[in-house]
Amino acid sequence: MKTPMITRYEGGVHTDKLSTRLLLPEEQPESWKKVLADSVTDPEELLGILNLPKTLLPGAISGDKAFSMRIPRPYIDRMIRGDQFDPLLRQVLPLGEESEEISGYSLDPLAEQSQNPTEGIIHKYQGRLLMIVSGACAINCRFCFRRHFPYGDNQLGGESWKQAIAYIRSQESIHEVILSGGDPLAATDSRLARMVDALSDIPHVKTLRIHTRLPIVIPQRVTDEMIEWFCKGRLKPVLVIHCNHANEIDDHVAQSLQKLRQAGATLLNQTVLLRGVNDNAETLADLSHTLFDAGVLPYYLHLLDRVQGAAHFDIAEEKAKVLVNELMHQCPGYLVPKLVREVAGEASKTPIPIN
Ligand code: SF4
Repeated sequence: MKTPMITRYEGGVHTDKLSTRLLLPEEQPESWKKVLADSVTDPEELLGILNLPKTLLPGAISGDKAFSMRIPRPYIDRMIRGDQFDPLLRQVLPLGEESEEISGYSLDPLAEQSQNPTEGIIHKYQGRLLMIVSGACAINCRFCFRRHFPYGDNQLGGESWKQAIAYIRSQESIHEVILSGGDPLAATDSRLARMVDALSDIPHVKTLRIHTRLPIVIPQRVTDEMIEWFCKGRLKPVLVIHCNHANEIDDHVAQSLQKLRQAGATLLNQTVLLRGVNDNAETLADLSHTLFDAGVLPYYLHLLDRVQGAAHFDIAEEKAKVLVNELMHQCPGYLVPKLVREVAGEASKTPIPIN
């Protein structure tokens, strides 16, 4: 077992510290932070909770060394006990094959490390840019294309934050700012509120988009404070959740999404097509219907970004096309996400023609 840690976020930087001091009242964690701090990070504990065979342990330990395991308990609660092929478990359980080097898979598949005009900013799309608000994530997804990204060099804080705001102010073509990460919602509400205030002061910025998985894995993250800074200001709020399977949406998640929708946010979803998780039309149709029931429209279905360590999730483009064709027969058009791939150096996602 690993030594128990107290996990804290400081200015968006994730630190694990052994701590015995009592927290001051103003430092008392909000409930989502308590849930986050209580995440399961020990593969042996995970296997125990889920009644899974010990034979999975060596692979899990080896995968954990390359990219550490982190799973909030509310997410584990939605997994089926005793099923090592559970679609939620597969997304987060480290495996031995992650350390195999496979040709065609790289550390930085989207070449993002060469698209930083200033620290913490990725500007590759016309009219919009990405700000890396936090290098932390609530959950470490094994297929993540940024699993090797140097977050330490690319987070906004102090001087780099001022430079980022100056850069956006100087680029009048930017009408949308996308908060990204890691997971941007891993930052505190007070920090995010200050950022959104500064962005609201730039007249050409009209829309604030957040890409996040946090409301899916810890629905308590949708706080009243978040609703306030996200939905009640001048900028149009768009939330893109990253949900890959219908089982990820339980009642608590649906209620949190409903709160955001009632406050005026546009809710969209993007899914990564993953072998063994959602690579059949029935599963994708179920996801689309469950999202719609929760007030979310399916937006993109991504082919895997070919990052080292994730090759075992890949689905061939031809098979993906067949799946989307089948999905079109099962769902109305508005519930069929666009099949896309990110291509390094391209100014936008590349749509994959279906026919
Ligand atoms: S950035 Fe998104 S996909 Fe990657 S680990 Fe974090 S939550 Fe998962």
